[in-house]
Amino acid sequence: MHKISIKLFVGIISALVNRNSLTVLTYHRVGESYNQLCMDEKRFEQQLVWLKRYFNPVSLTEGLALQAQGKLPKRSIAISIDDGYSDSYTKIFPLLQKHGLVATFFISTSGIQQGYLWDELVSSAIMQLPASDEALVFLEVTYPVATYSQRIECVKKIAKIIKYQSNDDRNILIEQLLNKTGKPQLKHQFLSEQQISALSDAGMEIGAHTVNHPILTCEQDQTVQSEMMLSKQHLEKITNKPVNFLAYPNGKSQVDFNDNHQRIAKECGFTAAFSTDWGCISSKNSNLFSLCRFTPWDITEFKFNLRLALNFNEKYTRLIGK
Ligand SMILES: [Zn+2]
Repeated sequence: MHKISIKLFVGIISALVNRNSLTVLTYHRVGESYNQLCMDEKRFEQQLVWLKRYFNPVSLTEGLALQAQGKLPKRSIAISIDDGYSDSYTKIFPLLQKHGLVATFFISTSGIQQGYLWDELVSSAIMQLPASDEALVFLEVTYPVATYSQRIECVKKIAKIIKYQSNDDRNILIEQLLNKTGKPQLKHQFLSEQQISALSDAGMEIGAHTVNHPILTCEQDQTVQSEMMLSKQHLEKITNKPVNFLAYPNGKSQVDFNDNHQRIAKECGFTAAFSTDWGCISSKNSNLFSLCRFTPWDITEFKFNLRLALNFNEKYTRLIGK
């Protein structure tokens, strides 16, 4: 469909939707990786072009401030990038700059020293098994690993088991896995302090995403508090700016975090916190400590932008996933 007709469609839909609403898109990694959340560079750039063409990009700070004043322009969107892998700097940042866009980077700070987060360690351990290995036994379950797709499937299943554990139990399970697979070769693939500081100096926003990316509902309150606080303080030290926003790891409300964690985030001094629940942020009923995000998954220009336009009304958000 032609650009002008899409513009017309998007315009009509957004004329019908709530005013003063903000949609925050989430991305993770851009480039080449077997990571499920990784997006091809061309596709990412294409989406940036569409966002500029049909919507009104703002920074998160600007968007929330304008919304509080009731002055948010129609079809406002903000971009967020989760986790903090180095492609945030090498791939995403240059493309944002090329298109004159800003994003908020939510960073899990353990990766800065370690070079990766726990899930990368788990997936590399499985993907790098010797080519001749046909099966992996973990926690008394046998996983076939003869082919590439079997290994991807095995990564998904084992990562899911390890994910929903406390930090301590997660580390024990990872140790058990590495005893079976051997320690994988892993290069440092996370943002460095210098890169985070350069992103911030160039006008990108930096947000906290805890230290170790735990599922908060699997942790004691004291651990949750330190996970939030230490990541905030570390990032503030690097950027020399206040870190006001938090994205909850994994981010499903009432599954990965709850009302208690919202209270802790507030006590840590954050001004807003983001979930991965679908929806838009409307000034009428959005809780600042459980703000929704939404990214369409469509390939075509028409579907991607139509789905994004529909997200500006909460009534439609529930329908568009179907
Ligand atoms: Zn994350």
